[in-house]
Amino acid sequence: CGIIGFAGNVPATPILLDGLERMEYRGYDSAGIAVRSEHAGLQVKKSKGRLQMLADLVDGGKALDGTLGIGHTRWATHGEPNDVNAHPHVSSSGNIAVVHNGIIENYLDIKESLEQKGVHFSSETDSEVVAHLLEFYYKEHGNMLEAVSHVLGRIEGSYAFGIICSDYPDALIAARKDSPLLLGYSEQGNYIASDVTAIIKHTRQVAYMDDGEVAVITPTGIDVYNSEMVAVEKTVRTVDWDV
Ligand code: GLU
Repeated sequence: CGIIGFAGNVPATPILLDGLERMEYRGYDSAGIAVRSEHAGLQVKKSKGRLQMLADLVDGGKALDGTLGIGHTRWATHGEPNDVNAHPHVSSSGNIAVVHNGIIENYLDIKESLEQKGVHFSSETDSEVVAHLLEFYYKEHGNMLEAVSHVLGRIEGSYAFGIICSDYPDALIAARKDSPLLLGYSEQGNYIASDVTAIIKHTRQVAYMDDGEVAVITPTGIDVYNSEMVAVEKTVRTVDWDV
């Protein structure tokens, strides 16, 4: 129900936890984060229940260091609220993590075809297909942005995604269709969020993603592409209201 992501040069975990807390009012049944660190690679912590359970799991950030990460609060649509169904969802190799808001309408078809190829699913969610499908196309094309583009061509439904891959230590990829997602710009790094309240503590410079757009967020900038993967220029606005 809420997404936050950060690529920057300060620890990601406190930013992710704080952002999720500020979006609590949207409602949720579980929460989770994935952070990529130099020494530990991609690490995921998630839990059913209150955000405090997640905060305890990550010990306020000490248990998960790294400056690149994504976070999610879930409002279950497919699969009951439990630890396994909580996001992020991870591909079989453990190298790709995804958070998703929305519904993948054709997930059963995709799930069946992946299972026929030997992919094992852990959760009952519609969202998990995205992690496995990304891995499938990433192996085929060797490029994450291309893999995302193929996945978006294959899925039907509504989505906001935050995606990280351990092969890309600096980059977070985002995409949206019929589910809100905005980009935030700051000196210490750049953000994605479902809601401006999640990041306003850090920046008032934001751009709203449009349907079909894909963004690559790094510590130094954000590149945005349309559904044909042509680069587009975003208008950055200054949020001037108080939260
Ligand atoms: N459909 C997904 C699920 O049930 C995402 C739900 C949400 O938007 O939080 O896991």
